[in-house]
Amino acid sequence: MATIADNLQAVRERIAHAARAAGREAEKITLLAVSKTHPAQRVIEAVAAGQRTFGENYVQEAVRKMDAVAAASDPGIALEWHLIGPLQSNKTRTVAERFDWVQTIDREKIAARLSAQRADTRAPLNVLVQVNVSGEASKSGVAPESVLALAQAVARLPRLRLRGLMTIPEPTDDVALQRARFRRLRELLEAARASGLALDTLSMGMSDDMEAAIAEGATMVRIGTAIFGAREIERGTA
Ligand SMILES: *Cc1c(COP(=O)(O)O)cnc(C)c1O
Repeated sequence: MATIADNLQAVRERIAHAARAAGREAEKITLLAVSKTHPAQRVIEAVAAGQRTFGENYVQEAVRKMDAVAAASDPGIALEWHLIGPLQSNKTRTVAERFDWVQTIDREKIAARLSAQRADTRAPLNVLVQVNVSGEASKSGVAPESVLALAQAVARLPRLRLRGLMTIPEPTDDVALQRARFRRLRELLEAARASGLALDTLSMGMSDDMEAAIAEGATMVRIGTAIFGAREIERGTA
């Protein structure tokens, strides 16, 4: 059976290959390892294989895992945790205290709470505005026409640092459609930059569509299954 180290190596090679095909530098693409539903032990294995950046969807699960991983790791190793699941108002305090990034901002109210709750002693919380580029097919994220107004409002919040945009398009095997969705997000980022916002992050691409995302300019890919294997919940056993 392939180990997590093997899987990470294979994913890094896929990223390098896709970057080369697009005439881009692989070093400019961050690999976010999505560990949701997988036990802390699997994260510890990924850390041992050199991975430092992790994505989680559920706040309570993430916090338990952060504590377990920290207890088992060399304190000199700094990990970066990204929230990539939907965020409700009653969880913002924990998220402001424990995460380094929140990729799922789609309302000003949630962003304002995160800013108010982020301690002055810490670096500002990095955030991305989540965009629904697929229309009706997916429900999370702000509509493309609302991105600029939300981005400008979020950029004004003192304890947040708006870094860019994120999307989860509808799953499809149609590579042309994958590319069209990702291109839309890149164009929205370019428009936001043209309006004066200093943004550097385009979070798009998962295990099944990372090549299309990299071809369209992804600076961060969020990879779960290709690193950690199928999630229990998807196998119908949890
Ligand atoms: C679960 C998840 C991923 C990872 O998906 P895979 O297909 O397992 O690579 C990426 N992004 C988000 C927002 C997710 O919820």
